[in-house]
Amino acid sequence: MAEVVHTPRVFSGIQPSGGLTLGNYLGALKRFGETQDRGDMPTIYCIVDMHAITVWQDPEKLNRATRELTAGFIASGIDPTKSILFNQSAVPGHAQLGWIFNCVARLGWMQRMTQFKDKAGKNSENVSLGLFAYPALMAADILVYHATHVPVGEDQKQHVELTRDIAIKFNNDYGVEFFPVPEPVIEGAATRVMSLRDGTKKMSKSDPSDMSRINLTDDADAIAKKIKKAKTDPEPLPETLEGLEGRPEARNLVNIYAALSGKTAAEVVAEYAGQQFGTFKPALADLAVDRLSPISTEMSRLMQDPAEIDRILAHGAEQANAIAEPIVRRAYQIVGMVGA
Ligand code: ATP
Ligand code: MG
Repeated sequence: MAEVVHTPRVFSGIQPSGGLTLGNYLGALKRFGETQDRGDMPTIYCIVDMHAITVWQDPEKLNRATRELTAGFIASGIDPTKSILFNQSAVPGHAQLGWIFNCVARLGWMQRMTQFKDKAGKNSENVSLGLFAYPALMAADILVYHATHVPVGEDQKQHVELTRDIAIKFNNDYGVEFFPVPEPVIEGAATRVMSLRDGTKKMSKSDPSDMSRINLTDDADAIAKKIKKAKTDPEPLPETLEGLEGRPEARNLVNIYAALSGKTAAEVVAEYAGQQFGTFKPALADLAVDRLSPISTEMSRLMQDPAEIDRILAHGAEQANAIAEPIVRRAYQIVGMVGA
C-alpha cells in the first residue's frame, strides 16, 4: 500500500478542571501561541470539558471554568481568527471516535498509564470508568482532526504515545492508512513545572494546595508570597547546571526563570551563580509578575463579556466540526457501521 502523507496539523487541549497555572502557561499555552504565530501549520486548540468531568465537577464552576479557560487562551496569544478555538463537547466527533478507540485500545495499555495511577491513587476501585478510559478519548481528540503534531507538557508524553499505538492498531486492524501517527512536541525550558511545595510533584490546577501553584489569575502579592514560601534548600545557586542535580526544587525555580525570561537554564545559573535564594526568589517574583500580570488583566477584561466568549466558542466549534465530521463518517465506514 502506498504511504499516505498527512497534511501537518496541530492539535492540543486543556481541561477546564480549575484555574490555569504557570505550568499550563509555560508547558502549553505560551507554546500554543508561538506555534500559531509561526504559521507553518494550521492550529486547533480545545477546551476539553469531557475530560474534566472524569472527576466530578460542580456544573456552575465547570461553566465558568470553560469560559475562563477560553479567556486564558486568548489572553495568552491564541487568536481565534488564526487558530480554531472551541470546547470539546460541542463537537460530537470526539465522543463518536472515542467509542471506536475504546474498542481498539487494550486494557493492558490503559493499566500502564501513570496519570491514571497518580489520579486514582489508592482509590482505584472507586474512580469513574471515564478516568480510566480518558486516554482513548484523548486519542480521538487528536485523530478526529488527523492532527500530526501535539504540543504538550512532559506529563502528557505517555498519552500521545498511546495515541500513536491506537492509530497504528486501527490502521492495521482494518488494513488502511487512515490515521496519521502523531508526534508529541515537548520543547522549551519548562516542559514540566513542579509544585512549589514538593519538587518531585508536577504543578497542577487540581492540586488541593493553592500554595503549590501560581495561578494565572493570582495578583502580584500572591505571586510574590508563593515564590517566597516555595520550598528550597539552604545552598546558594551553583556555577553550573550539574550543581542542581539532586536539588529538584532549586532546579524547578531555575527552569521557571529560564522559560519566563527566554534564557536557557544554563544562562540563568551562570547569572546567579553563588547567590542565595533570598536574592533569586525576589528576582523571579518580579519576572513572573511582569510576564503574567498582562495576561490576568486581559483575562478579567474578557470575562466581563461572556456572550462574546460563547460566540467565539460556537464559531470555533463550527470550524472544528467541519473537519471532524467527514473523518468520523469515513471511520464508521471503515469499521463497517451502517448509517454513517
Ligand atoms: P489537572 O490537574 O486537572 O490534570 P493540569 O494542570 O494537569 O490539570 P491539564 O489540562 O491536564 O492541566 O493539561 C493541559 C496542558 O498543560 C497539557 O499539555 C499538560 O502537559 C500541560 N501541563 C500541565 N501541567 C504542567 C506542568 N506542571 N508543567 C508543564 N506543562 C504542564
Ligand atoms: Mg493534567
